Amino acid sequence: MFVDKVRITVCGGRGGDGAVAFHREKYVAAGGPDGGDGGHGGSVVLHVNSNLSTLLDFRYKRKYVAPSGANGLGRSMSGKRGENLIIQVPKGTVVRDAQTNQIIVDMSTEEDFVLAKGGRGGWGNGHFATATRQVPRFAKSGTPGQERDVILELKLLADVGLVGFPNVGKSTLLSVTSNARPKIANYHFTTLYPNLGVIYVDEGVSFVMADIPGIIEGAAEGAGLGHDFLRHIDRCRLLVHVVDVSGSEGRDPVADFDAICAELHDYSVDLSNRPMIVAANKCDLLPPDSDNLERLRSHVEALGCKLYEISAGTTQGVKTLMRVVAEELRTLPPVTIYEPDYVEPLPPTGTSDELEIDHLGSTWVISGLWLERLVSNINFDDYESRNYFDLQLRKCGLFTRLEEMGIQDGDTVSIYDLEFEYQR
Ligand code: GDP
Ligand code: MG
Repeated sequence: MFVDKVRITVCGGRGGDGAVAFHREKYVAAGGPDGGDGGHGGSVVLHVNSNLSTLLDFRYKRKYVAPSGANGLGRSMSGKRGENLIIQVPKGTVVRDAQTNQIIVDMSTEEDFVLAKGGRGGWGNGHFATATRQVPRFAKSGTPGQERDVILELKLLADVGLVGFPNVGKSTLLSVTSNARPKIANYHFTTLYPNLGVIYVDEGVSFVMADIPGIIEGAAEGAGLGHDFLRHIDRCRLLVHVVDVSGSEGRDPVADFDAICAELHDYSVDLSNRPMIVAANKCDLLPPDSDNLERLRSHVEALGCKLYEISAGTTQGVKTLMRVVAEELRTLPPVTIYEPDYVEPLPPTGTSDELEIDHLGSTWVISGLWLERLVSNINFDDYESRNYFDLQLRKCGLFTRLEEMGIQDGDTVSIYDLEFEYQR
């Protein structure tokens, strides 16, 4: 079975909680706090595996959760961090946000991608051990990992895409020119999933050609094996349109050609404008009195396409066609790699009621879900971002609430990884 589009949920591991512990030693009356930090949660990481060619594995497993970090321990021992969960995907997998459909990443290079970050481990009470602070019976809990729903969509990486009616000889052409061994038979829809083949034209000159299941008229409206497979030639730099000029199935090659062009146009205007070379196939079967070839030639030439006569069956003309294709490719831009257009949603705005305030002597520890998200979205090295953060805290009424609770100038405010001295 061939699966080329799936929806999955990925979730980074939870950060471990910080520990509350106190140094214990014989004959030492009261040791200081020495609770260790929680370990960070593991992340979900995408990794390209060039041996994979479908998304089949994802059909049966839909949720991927990375391991959590371990909780912190006494004696200042940090918890073990959660391991990353590596998900293997075929090359050319495009990852979209399931809600917005925006592209998060195109896995077309060898680079790994962190799809869901693990949560941060919480600080143990060892962090709160300063001379001015009273006994810190306090540690922070770990934060949850990032969770997101994504759509994985395989878009093969090929220079050339073969298009044409079923049974015109596309798979035969790929099999006689490359190492690929697609299924070939004299009935419609033999090819049920895309095949890729590498064509070596000359030393150092090669390209990748994709054979996709045949598209037919009305595929745009959902008839038969249709447009779903066209996504695999979205990236192609050039199309080779294979037409059966022999009329061996009783159809007219000019009408066939136009029907396929109309289908391409319906699917995507962009794809229908892709450079195209026409391969007039099954020339070995062409009846001597037929004007099919000449009619097709003048039709496509009027549209600005070049036509080559071939017989994939006897391989006549095939080498020439492949040379022309290679030559044409030299002038064309490279295979499309999709640029991400996903924008991180703005941190949600919240109110001070959603915040929890722990008062520990002269330290005020603030926590809460929206605040946590806010903090994780702020770059504290950046002045503008810090200002934005300050503004959000003011807007939510946190400072008013702290004053009502009796905060003094010089007290410490602790917000996740951030600590500052309070000044009115
Ligand atoms: P596809 O559906 O376009 O992939 O077509 P196939 O490659 O599966 O070919 C369909 C049928 O046409 C098969 O029986 C092939 O052997 C036959 N065929 C393909 N090319 C030629 C050709 O150039 N000459 C002849 N005589 N038969 C061909
Ligand atoms: Mg085929």
